[in-house]
Amino acid sequence: MKKSHLSVGVDVPWVTSWTAEAITGVAPCASVGALALCQQEAAGFGKPEYSKNHLLRQRLSVQRMLCPMCGEPTQTGDRWTQVARRTWAGSLRRDANGMALPREIEDARVVIDAGSIAPLHKACSDLSLQHCPHLKADPNVNVQPFPELWLVTPLLIPATNETGGEPLPAVAFLQLVGVTERLDADWRRKRAAQPKARAA
Ligand SMILES: [Zn+2]
Repeated sequence: MKKSHLSVGVDVPWVTSWTAEAITGVAPCASVGALALCQQEAAGFGKPEYSKNHLLRQRLSVQRMLCPMCGEPTQTGDRWTQVARRTWAGSLRRDANGMALPREIEDARVVIDAGSIAPLHKACSDLSLQHCPHLKADPNVNVQPFPELWLVTPLLIPATNETGGEPLPAVAFLQLVGVTERLDADWRRKRAAQPKARAA
């Protein structure tokens, strides 16, 4: 496929998948030290697929706190989320796809559910809000600082085994949850009063 005139990390977010990057299947992946769904690496070739994250770059962005826009590491004090949802650990545990959070995180703990999107540099966030049509149209955009503590949980898929055995779990994306210092004793009542969760 042809090299695009758009440049990766400038015109198109670093984490975005391109049409030249075919999914290759499940294999051991150093990014997670386990089986993972893998994808060819040819960013900048073909067309950008803005609604899709590249599997490996997504995992690296969360694992190493790399800015999904420019691909460079973010530092404490300059980590910003755009569409993350403020919620409670107890709520994430009880959601339809119930997240397994460590026991020491109390149900009442206020957390920032960043989904699969690592925090950005403020400068990169500002730039993307100016230029990205998807973000401009998104009513959930709320730029907020990301906490200094966080948890990473894998989003697992069942990988069918060619030898016919039980499917093995493989990592697709990594999900990120920021852990704040706040406890909210009233979380159950507030959660019950919320409109039903929006589609993921
Ligand atoms: Zn950046």
